[in-house]
Amino acid sequence: MLSVIVAPEQPSERGLILVVDDDASTRTLVSRWLQKEGYEVREAPSGEGALEVVAALTTPLDCVVLDVMMPGMNGVEVVQRLRGIPAVADVSVLLLTAHATGDEDVVAGMDAGASDYMFKPFSGPVMVARVRALCRRTQHARELKAKLLEAEEHAAIDPLTNLYNRRQFERTLTEEAARARRHQSPCAILLGDLDYFKTINDTHGHAEGDRVLTYFSSKVQSILRGEDRAFRYGGEEFAVILPGADVEGALRVDRRLREALARDPYVFAKGHSNVINYSAGIACAQGASDFTFKGIVEDADRALYAAKRNGRNRTELA
Ligand code: GH3
Ligand code: MG
Ligand code: MG
Repeated sequence: MLSVIVAPEQPSERGLILVVDDDASTRTLVSRWLQKEGYEVREAPSGEGALEVVAALTTPLDCVVLDVMMPGMNGVEVVQRLRGIPAVADVSVLLLTAHATGDEDVVAGMDAGASDYMFKPFSGPVMVARVRALCRRTQHARELKAKLLEAEEHAAIDPLTNLYNRRQFERTLTEEAARARRHQSPCAILLGDLDYFKTINDTHGHAEGDRVLTYFSSKVQSILRGEDRAFRYGGEEFAVILPGADVEGALRVDRRLREALARDPYVFAKGHSNVINYSAGIACAQGASDFTFKGIVEDADRALYAAKRNGRNRTELA
């Protein structure tokens, strides 16, 4: 009869469960039920112990079965603490509480972020079914989060060049402007534009033009360091944000890029090779309190157009 109640409607995905109870016999009982169902179980005899187990985990946790009344850190506090730890912030928590102490603990625990509760003594099969449902919920939340992260990453990247896109440029620069103002630290940007790129398209075709953009972008990536970020700013325009850099730092980046392009000229499909040239404008905020997103971009843009006017294949300072 028991097997009829226990049998899940479909094979459930097994997961990792943390069982927290100061009472060893309850802990063992819960663990046995779960292990019998194929779950991997970790045990902790206290709230403090639970946090230690969580800190040492190397695989994702799917559910916590948590006693509310424990000496030291009680279950409600444990839930609050878990919600603040990114790796387990979304993990489902099943509260276990004695009928006698009951309702208030349940209310406090659920308000703190627990997902479900059971009164002791509990039915093993019902406890297992609840854990199963909670594991599904945790796994679902985890999948959604991963998809969201991937989508965000996707939305920030230019598919042709793999550089960050213009949207991300605006975000990053807004953040950097705020940081530079706060810490009075410098920040430089370099705006570049390939020279006579239209001629490359017209002579070799759009597909070859695309390959030149990819080649160029990989050269930009190859010379960046640490916190520097490169962006495709427009068609054949790119930008580099150099947090903490002054004009000298930005000029060094510019020099390294020109050297990298000269060392390894682009080889066209027809077989000949050419150094790809660009013009650039550099603007720098020396931690100025008036460092704004708009200001620094406009400065760099003006410098870039001066570089074009002054003959191309060169860099001007704002
Ligand atoms: P300048 O030296 O003054 O910068 O001249 P230019 O020819 O590089 O600049 P212009 O702005 O006249 O032309 C840029 C060209 O870049 C026009 C556009 O068709 C091309 N372009 C923009 N995006 C892409 C792209 O994704 N792939 C390719 N192949 N071409 C692109
Ligand atoms: Mg252009
Ligand atoms: Mg151009």
